Amino acid sequence: MADERPVVVIGAGPAGLAAAAELVARDLPVLVLESGDTAGAAVSEWGHVRLFSMWRDLVGPAAEKLLSATGWRRPDDSGYPTGREWVEEYLAPLAEAVGDRVRFGTRVTGVSRLGRNRVVDAGRTEQPFTVRVHTREGEERLLARAVVDASGTWGTPNPVGGDGLPALGEAAAAERISYRVPDLGDERTRTRYAGRTTAVVGSGHSALTALVALASLAQEVPGTKALWVLRRGDVGDAFGGGAADQLAARGALGQRARAAVEAGDVEVVTGFRTAQVRSGDGGTVLVGEGGRELGPVDEVVALTGFRPDLSPLSEVRLDLDPTLEAPVRLAPLIDPNQHSCGTVYPHGAAELSHPEEGFFLAGMKSYGRAPTFLALTGYEQVRSIAAHLAGDHEGAARVELVLPETGVCGGAGLFDDPTASKADAGGCCGPTPEVAEEPAARQDGGGGLTVSELPLISSGAVPAGSSEAPETASGSGCCSGPAQRTESGEPARVS
Ligand SMILES: Cc1cc2nc3c(=O)[nH]c(=O)nc-3n(C[C@H](O)[C@H](O)[C@H](O)COP(=O)(O)OP(=O)(O)OC[C@H]3O[C@@H](n4cnc5c(N)ncnc54)[C@H](O)[C@@H]3O)c2cc1C
Repeated sequence: MADERPVVVIGAGPAGLAAAAELVARDLPVLVLESGDTAGAAVSEWGHVRLFSMWRDLVGPAAEKLLSATGWRRPDDSGYPTGREWVEEYLAPLAEAVGDRVRFGTRVTGVSRLGRNRVVDAGRTEQPFTVRVHTREGEERLLARAVVDASGTWGTPNPVGGDGLPALGEAAAAERISYRVPDLGDERTRTRYAGRTTAVVGSGHSALTALVALASLAQEVPGTKALWVLRRGDVGDAFGGGAADQLAARGALGQRARAAVEAGDVEVVTGFRTAQVRSGDGGTVLVGEGGRELGPVDEVVALTGFRPDLSPLSEVRLDLDPTLEAPVRLAPLIDPNQHSCGTVYPHGAAELSHPEEGFFLAGMKSYGRAPTFLALTGYEQVRSIAAHLAGDHEGAARVELVLPETGVCGGAGLFDDPTASKADAGGCCGPTPEVAEEPAARQDGGGGLTVSELPLISSGAVPAGSSEAPETASGSGCCSGPAQRTESGEPARVS
């Protein structure tokens, strides 16, 4: 008798809805559980941010087929949507096309096996999954044949603390700390930052976005200032690959942040690991390891990345990398300590599987604590997972993914230790760009280095291939190309 139970997909974000479209295309029963009241609930919270991917890289293949049948047409590729447009013009229509297979206002609080906790072997794989949910009506338990957790990491941002734990006093200073890119188009938010000094902590694209936004506010409102607080010992290539970035808008974002630093609207503070946050009437002071003080500032914007919430999965047998909390076979491909060229080896069901058969992490959550996840990656992941669940193992193994390279290599782990950056040849694309020695940071506790004191950085594409890069057909760029693989995950030689 055919198993009528659905594949449960957790999260109606880009990856979850793309998974649903892939499963529908394979005639598999699917049920999407979304805690928010709308599709793309997390994306909506950063709706004011313009993406650096074009529409063509933001629409899943099976999703496009499903939507086209309703008369939907993909927006013009030359455009870069905001998060809000991504939701309104794609995710919301897609959820509608998936129909009542999407349940909103339904938070998943636990996943397990029927009548078995994670310890019990006996008859485990014959038992369906149990999925515990919270709705406005109360608690419910659902049964599922398989589970794809695409619930993202938006809900669990990293703290300000340089050691990954909340800094002392961070909770008490919550009123002055935001973990989101400020929406300066919103009047109340604008008032919060206009004419005031804000410390932006973090070195990823969200931090660059916040710096550019605050710098343009500084052009309009005198007295507006941003301090860019970096753990790493030098700026290195935190501005990104610029013209060498194959995602032009991502490269341009870094260039705009660099211009803001050069214009003096942003001051850079390097080698600062926050240990304590002291907040009082006079403002907020960040205290670094070793007692270095920064501030008082008026506001703190912490954009130090995200981590996965694994608490609902305590009864699931996961195989996660101890560093990234990502599936062990995926982790080496995305480890920022190793490389961050932005290229990621094609991966699918094989890399995303766990000892718990039929359970997969997909989308942003599959990257655990690693940065640089792109929607394109999620779409290929869920295509492969759906093929696997439909028993099409050849289709599942045929993963193809070519990601736009960032134009820079090297990783957070590398740049946190300036001495390492010279020596490292470990990145998938060979040595990181040379950086000149920088003068010691000023100890006057006041402002950080202005860009005119920063060394010149040589960015741009680095030579292809290094001993550690997996064997792939490489284009002009750094690493990846289409690849075939057997179901057991071994790369098959590309002829
Ligand atoms: C500011 C920003 C800009 C970005 N720009 C780009 C870009 O330009 N290009 C690009 O390719 N990528 C970009 N990304 C990365 C990535 O593509 C997005 O984060 C994307 O939204 C990830 O999709 P997802 O479906 O994996 O996760 P999410 O979009 O986070 O969706 C997860 C969904 O699960 C729901 N959920 C969470 N917990 C539960 C639960 N327990 N039960 C039920 N539902 C739950 C959430 O409400 C949410 O709707 C950006 C990310 C950010 C934060």
